[in-house]
Amino acid sequence: MIDLRKDVQYVKGIGPKRAEKLNKLGIFTLKDLVYYFPRQFEDRNNLKKIIQLENEEKATIKVIIVGISTSSPRKGMNITKVDVRDETGYAKLVFFNQDYVKNTFRPGDTILVFGKVKKEFKTIEISSCEVEHLTNSPKNTCKVMPIYPLTYGVTNKEIISIIKNVLSDKELKIKEYLPQRIIEKYKLCSIDYAIRNIHSPSSKEALKIALYRIVFEEFLILQLGLFIFKNGVDEACGIKFEENEKLEDILNSLPFKLTGAQDRALNEITQDMNSDKLMNRLVQGDVGSGKTVVALLALANCVLNGYQGALMAPTEILAEQHFISLTETLSEFGMKVELLVGSLTKKQKENVLEKVKNNEVDILIGTHALIEDKVEFSNLGLVITDEQHRFGVRQRNKLSSKGFNPDILVMTATPIPRTLALILYGDLDISIIDELPPGRQPIETIAVDKGKRDRAYNSLVRAEVEKGRQVYIVCPLVEESEAIEAKAAVELVEELKLEYFSDLRVGLLHGKMKASEKDSIMKSFKNKEIDILVSTTVIEVGVNVPNATLMIIENAERFGLAQLHQLRGRVGRGSHKSYCILIYASKSDVCKQRMSIMEETNDGFKISEKDLEIRGPGEFFGTRQHGLPELKVANIFKHMKILKIAQQEARYILGNDHKLQNFENKYIKNEIIDKFEHSLEEISLN
Ligand code: ADP
Ligand code: MG
Repeated sequence: MIDLRKDVQYVKGIGPKRAEKLNKLGIFTLKDLVYYFPRQFEDRNNLKKIIQLENEEKATIKVIIVGISTSSPRKGMNITKVDVRDETGYAKLVFFNQDYVKNTFRPGDTILVFGKVKKEFKTIEISSCEVEHLTNSPKNTCKVMPIYPLTYGVTNKEIISIIKNVLSDKELKIKEYLPQRIIEKYKLCSIDYAIRNIHSPSSKEALKIALYRIVFEEFLILQLGLFIFKNGVDEACGIKFEENEKLEDILNSLPFKLTGAQDRALNEITQDMNSDKLMNRLVQGDVGSGKTVVALLALANCVLNGYQGALMAPTEILAEQHFISLTETLSEFGMKVELLVGSLTKKQKENVLEKVKNNEVDILIGTHALIEDKVEFSNLGLVITDEQHRFGVRQRNKLSSKGFNPDILVMTATPIPRTLALILYGDLDISIIDELPPGRQPIETIAVDKGKRDRAYNSLVRAEVEKGRQVYIVCPLVEESEAIEAKAAVELVEELKLEYFSDLRVGLLHGKMKASEKDSIMKSFKNKEIDILVSTTVIEVGVNVPNATLMIIENAERFGLAQLHQLRGRVGRGSHKSYCILIYASKSDVCKQRMSIMEETNDGFKISEKDLEIRGPGEFFGTRQHGLPELKVANIFKHMKILKIAQQEARYILGNDHKLQNFENKYIKNEIIDKFEHSLEEISLN
């Protein structure tokens, strides 16, 4: 058995010189080396024909050499071009300053080539080539190739060969440290298998299995360490609600059946509520996944137990919409729902406040108005914040402080880093709604340059309206001023009426309008009395008009990705195919990159992640910034479901063995100490 603590310089095939370079990558011991995981994998397995090659892609082809030529366009530079063909076409391999290649290949040879495709008119050039003769076990092509995070003059090929060398040593077997019980419970592969397959996957499937294990264990160790550091998981006491069979009746009165994901989320929520644990839970579900009805049922559960519930939303329009839909469903069960928003008259407000205080209101829905000091509840049992990312921590806390330890539920489609941190620290449990109601079609997003605006208006808008559908047009965002934004909206309406849609019904909605005006516009839009609704970002979140199928966003480059995603989520809410057109007026690379992310994915989680990435590493949520051990493979966005499982397991382990003193936890404890030693000196595990 080889000791993993061995200094890399004594590992066969490394030596002091290479060791020095490896040290710069943070690799000091053999363990560091085998845990130096690839950053990504390049799939070279996908063998293509020349005719299938696409510009800019990296691909593997199997070709026959036709001819070789060299040229020297200027001093110090020579180019070798190798003409190749397969049965579908011709291509040229291009090598810069690699004169020797001309001696390694002969016309007539069959070779495998992996490289980057450049397609111009009819010529196809392939550069950065890795070339291999046809053998039974190609090394650099036809494989899933690991790509390592590298600097300091270590090449990818070099590290591949070093690690391969190490792993081929028959003496090396990486010892398991997770308890057998956990391996079996979560059907994990062994650490030895995981490490081997993460560096040199025997298949895509094997890589998946290996990654799952590593992600799971990274999260598990992180969670265990954190919870121990925090001195256990605080299980604050909350209200213990009783299960009430009327909830089933309410459920049955809904016009639809819950999706599996909604059902799971609801179960997790009621389980929390019906225990004496204080619920603090996030419902993460993409736009349109149906979070509202889950909130409704949680509130109903609270009211059935004789407590009051509160639901806070970031805009009046959304609060109003929630008010309408909750009243619709819950009033027949005798529940009293009220609305509290800034635009009520003083008299109306006083009236609502009085009733809330006297327990004559069961559910209070509103905006920030809910957290004003004047608002007093009689017995607040549950607090829900919708679109949680739009509120500050203080605002949420203020609402819950209006009761005595009420349960807390927050909802969002696009979590912000702070939320992720809370989840990681175990301060926020998660329910994930990762399923859309049946019959939804994915929204098709198309980004177009401002020059194509005319066409978008003339053809697309009309086509949808003729089909009986409705359209949103969102005006450019003006961060500084709602007034300027409103003015722009008014002007846009004028322009649209004059130049494009004199025959259609165009409505206007902006933040400077009176609440009653906003209301009546939203109602007309819902009732199909308006074909095109021109709006500022006041419709960003929550608004639900399933007949609207086209969203056009002007100057899309001014919006954040999460914001665009929210806006886009206003369409695609019914069974009709929906579209989102992003009109942009910037030629910058960042703009293009952002637009293409929007075109490529409809996944709010992925968009949050990309948004943070583009904004730069400073803002990217990394554990290292928080003084925690680094997550090498695990990614809180991508792997939230695994995090959830690992978190539950960590709680379970510590529940039974709060200082990890049982024999079965001995090795994992060592791993935790090992990982946390740099970050949390004061951790006490003894
Ligand atoms: P979001 O998660 O974005 O808040 P909503 O709660 O507004 O989504 O729901 C979007 C739409 O989906 C609403 O019209 C709602 O009535 C509908 N809906 C929710 N759940 C279901 C379901 N299980 N089956 C069919 N439609 C549903
Ligand atoms: Mg919503």
